[in-house]
Amino acid sequence: MKAEIVAMKPEEPDEAVIKRAGRILKEGGLVAFPTETVYGLGGNALDACSSRKIYAAKGRPSDNPLIVHIADLADLPALVRRIPAGAAKLADTFWPGPLTMILEKSDLVPKETTGGLDSVAVRFPDHPIAQRLIKAAGGYVAAPSANTSGRPSPTTAGHVAEDLGDTIDMILDGGPVQIGLESTIVDFTEEIPSVLRPGYISLAMLRDVLGEVRMDPGLLREDSAIHPKAPGMKYRHYAPRAALSIVEGEEKAVVETICRLAAKAEKEGKQVGIIAAEETARNYKTGIVKTIGKRAEEETIARHLYQVLRDFDAEDVQVIYSEAFHTPEMGQAIMNRLLKAAGHTVIEA
Ligand code: AMP
Ligand code: MG
Repeated sequence: MKAEIVAMKPEEPDEAVIKRAGRILKEGGLVAFPTETVYGLGGNALDACSSRKIYAAKGRPSDNPLIVHIADLADLPALVRRIPAGAAKLADTFWPGPLTMILEKSDLVPKETTGGLDSVAVRFPDHPIAQRLIKAAGGYVAAPSANTSGRPSPTTAGHVAEDLGDTIDMILDGGPVQIGLESTIVDFTEEIPSVLRPGYISLAMLRDVLGEVRMDPGLLREDSAIHPKAPGMKYRHYAPRAALSIVEGEEKAVVETICRLAAKAEKEGKQVGIIAAEETARNYKTGIVKTIGKRAEEETIARHLYQVLRDFDAEDVQVIYSEAFHTPEMGQAIMNRLLKAAGHTVIEA
């Protein structure tokens, strides 16, 4: 099967195409679509067969639950047993938006969708194409990121076509996404809410609304015996073909260290890649230097991270050195993804 790819402007969704895409979903097919975070691979969330199809298309382990996407707050109660007061407040503040909440699931949601768990992940995305499609599909669309499991999440329709073009029915192309990193996940199944995956909505923003919020201890340390609570966070998300190391420290020291390591690797006959911010990129004279974005506009770094990782996979490099990006708002989310890609290889400058 070759996916039909249809381009449309987010501000002018093509209603006839959306209607057709909605019908494909209702009939058990798979449609990829843009959201404000990354592209999602949609299937009917209430249909066990559709969820199985999603796992098969992605090559995703079936214990890694899917996020159910809604396009109307009124559709939430049917999915869950109860809505804790904190969850209602977050929905009020951040939905539609890049926030996923884990709640106790109702019987409406098949276990195939939740990876066998009694809880369900729910998100109300802030993207006109996503919202129209979810409504056209009947209100409940299960959608993990639309990449092959183990590859970086897709931030363009081209990325989706690269990974899944031969296996799914349709790709709605709404152009490059805005945020570029997956949603923040907050777990409400325990008394104190906790962040299972950092994203655009930061811990500080959540604390402003909720007061007490924890970070899942499994997120903070790599080699600890504590497993992350989001099953997906335990998988090494993305292993670039080249060995990726992150260099930490003060700007000047980081630049010097990367220059030294790059020169050494080149002497050993290796092709070197470097991931740098626009502010420092011109300091590197060796290797293939890719500019990820501006530190002064941190959202540009988040938006381009997966593109840069995909681009490096297409190049013949053996080692990649990346600057660290502990930016004020999104640094936690950016470093979470970069550390996973690097298998937690960090060099102190
Ligand atoms: P993706 O669909 O690629 O954005 O990944 C979804 C993430 O949400 C994965 O890390 C899942 O493990 C996590 N997730 C989904 N549902 C649940 C749940 N019920 N409990 C905990 N984590 C979940
Ligand atoms: Mg994913």
